[in-house]
Amino acid sequence: MIIARTISDMRAAVNTLKQQQIAAGIVPSVGFVPTMGYLHEGHASLMRAAKDCSISVLSIFVNPIQFGPNEDLDRYPRDEARDLQLAEQCGVDVVFLPTVDIMYPSARKTTIQVTDVSARLCGASRPGHFDGVTTVVAKLFNIVKPDRAYFGMKDAQQVAVIQQMVDDLNFDLTIVPCPIVREQDGLALSSRNVYLCAEEREQALVLSQALQSIDALLEQHPSLTAADLVTVLQETITTKPLAKIDYVEVLQFPSLQPQLTNEPLVQSQTQVIVALAVHFGRTRLIDNRLLFA
Ligand code: AMP
Repeated sequence: MIIARTISDMRAAVNTLKQQQIAAGIVPSVGFVPTMGYLHEGHASLMRAAKDCSISVLSIFVNPIQFGPNEDLDRYPRDEARDLQLAEQCGVDVVFLPTVDIMYPSARKTTIQVTDVSARLCGASRPGHFDGVTTVVAKLFNIVKPDRAYFGMKDAQQVAVIQQMVDDLNFDLTIVPCPIVREQDGLALSSRNVYLCAEEREQALVLSQALQSIDALLEQHPSLTAADLVTVLQETITTKPLAKIDYVEVLQFPSLQPQLTNEPLVQSQTQVIVALAVHFGRTRLIDNRLLFA
């Protein structure tokens, strides 16, 4: 596994592997998994999926410009040695590990902003977050030049925003959305789960449980509208005293437009996302589920 810490080393690594593969009669393709590190099985599932390509590239970069001033940039968990071990086990060919100075060497004057899709959900709660995400992902795409880029549906809005950017700016690559990986009890894996104390961890289970309960709810009450479902989910989540809701929303996916107000949800003509963001103590967790997928 090649470890590249500069942009030129990163490009050289992929170019060398491509040339070797061409010489061996292989048509090379580059699969890319961008992450912020502190890797877990969710990230591992993306790294394994990227093995569909002949060259797999993982980036680990805690991107400061996607964090708000009062967010957890300073305490974001990091463990480079463990990350490299997991990457190696997953068969990653190249790991890109830039510093902040490498990614943002001088005062940056360009920001990529996807409007509309990034306005709601996490975009509303975390102003500027998606500008930071799209800007760094565009830079990483230009550095790595992937054919396929793998993103987790854990961050479903991120998938929608990045797909929009790729379409609007004609990036010559395919976005591959990958399913949410969960703990056995249902909690969606997240690097931020390490922040949770035992009591928060136990109560956080309400997120996946609430999402799981939707099938039965819609079956028993087929006239439920999007707004009704939001109310029921809010009631379920607030039974846990440590849960402080940021948002509970039911929207069309991937447009992230609101559902028709009076229409029973089961009659939806489009895919629907049920998206949750809930604070447990200082930790903000997100989870979601696609309906009618
Ligand atoms: P992060 O390191 O949190 O920026 O995540 C990097 C990538 O891993 C993103 O595409 C995430 O959506 C994805 N990811 C994070 N957690 C999970 C999970 N539990 N299941 C699937 N993908 C995930």
